[in-house]
Amino acid sequence: MTLSFWQHATREPEVRADVAIVGGGVVGCSTAYWLHRLRPSLRLVIVEAGMLAQGASGRNAGFLLPGTAADYATAVATYGAERARRLLHFTRENREMIAAELRGAAFDLEPSGSLTVAGSAAEEARLLDSVSLLRADGMPVAFIPRDETNRRLVARGYGGALYVPSGAMLHPVRLVRHLAGESEARLLTHHRVATLQEAGGDVVLETPVRRIRAGQVVLALNAYLPQLVPALSPFVRPVRAQMLATEPAASRWLQVPVYSHEGYYYLRQLADGVVLLGGARHLHADEEQGYEDTTTEALQADLLRYLHFHFPQTRGLGVRHRWSGVMGFSPDHLPVVGTVPGLDGSVWAAGFTGHGMGFGFRFGRLLADVVLGTPHPDGLELFSVRRFPRPQTARPSVPAGE
Ligand SMILES: Cc1cc2nc3c(=O)[nH]c(=O)nc-3n(C[C@H](O)[C@H](O)[C@H](O)COP(=O)(O)OP(=O)(O)OC[C@H]3O[C@@H](n4cnc5c(N)ncnc54)[C@H](O)[C@@H]3O)c2cc1C
Repeated sequence: MTLSFWQHATREPEVRADVAIVGGGVVGCSTAYWLHRLRPSLRLVIVEAGMLAQGASGRNAGFLLPGTAADYATAVATYGAERARRLLHFTRENREMIAAELRGAAFDLEPSGSLTVAGSAAEEARLLDSVSLLRADGMPVAFIPRDETNRRLVARGYGGALYVPSGAMLHPVRLVRHLAGESEARLLTHHRVATLQEAGGDVVLETPVRRIRAGQVVLALNAYLPQLVPALSPFVRPVRAQMLATEPAASRWLQVPVYSHEGYYYLRQLADGVVLLGGARHLHADEEQGYEDTTTEALQADLLRYLHFHFPQTRGLGVRHRWSGVMGFSPDHLPVVGTVPGLDGSVWAAGFTGHGMGFGFRFGRLLADVVLGTPHPDGLELFSVRRFPRPQTARPSVPAGE
């Protein structure tokens, strides 16, 4: 998009900051929170293209689950026992830090526990394998057999389930707003950053509305990172997810978030009986690639088929709302952090792969540590871009302190 002579001449005055955080989602606002908490004298600005929580952070199911998107036995097989244990620990810290640092009432935190429910015999076997692995790594969990799972959920057709006491639910938009408020950062919403470049030791961000000049920058853009820095496209790709909300049911029978069929379906119920359901992406893998923010009839029909099959009591319920959101998938499905090419001291984080609420608040602490130059920030080597071979097109450097 071009700016006319008149539009350019009437832009708002330049804003100066010590740190500019680009992206007003859970990761950006958590970073602002921790920067303020660790160094209150910093002048912070959050620069967001839309409203706060415009992206995936305002469109998700609000599940706060420990671990990665995969069950723990799969995570151990994929990442190795030591790395899986450290990832688990990182997400447990995320949960504990949210409870210790933030007023959960501000974002409807429900410490309900969570259920990971098997959709097949093979998945049930992996959940059973996960029980001993999780317990050995210090995580209390319980396996619930098939019949009891279905009885407890007032459902049919599910296999056994893993109950995780530390799982929780929250209101994601309220969480992001709360973090932004607590950070005392200046909020520049409806400011889409079009370019960023180094100028005289500062980083200059251009938006149609105004210029922002900062000492350091944090790019917390997740799926949208390659739109601003195309060289980083090897590390994150956009994948759409869709959800729906029903009319309120007469009663609330789901007290916990339910994550089923390897995470390809997820649902919860609000206090007023509304059922929130997402997933079915695996049935429409090609259509669900890219940035288009729209729902599709076919996928939404699959969501309802799933709901009506497992919960026949919902068959008469209308659908109140349907929506979509864009997630950022990394090549190995774990978050990635690196320094911005050409801007030493500035950092990017992306690739939260459908699980960013489980990482986000703790990740903000990690990014704040990197920005502040903390030696060897805890967790950095877990997520550093260095784990990937360097593509020919992208040569991002790695944060100091690693
Ligand atoms: C439907 C759905 C359900 C999900 N359910 C869960 C769940 O229950 N639990 C869970 O852990 N995770 C879930 N996720 C994933 C989770 O929402 C994400 O991993 C997480 O929100 C990523 O946070 P973020 O801050 O990195 O990115 P985002 O929230 O996407 O924030 C990036 C921000 O950058 C802004 N932006 C983009 N371009 C620019 C620009 N040029 N200038 C300025 N700003 C810009 C965007 O508007 C956006 O607000 C779900 C995702 C979706 C879509």
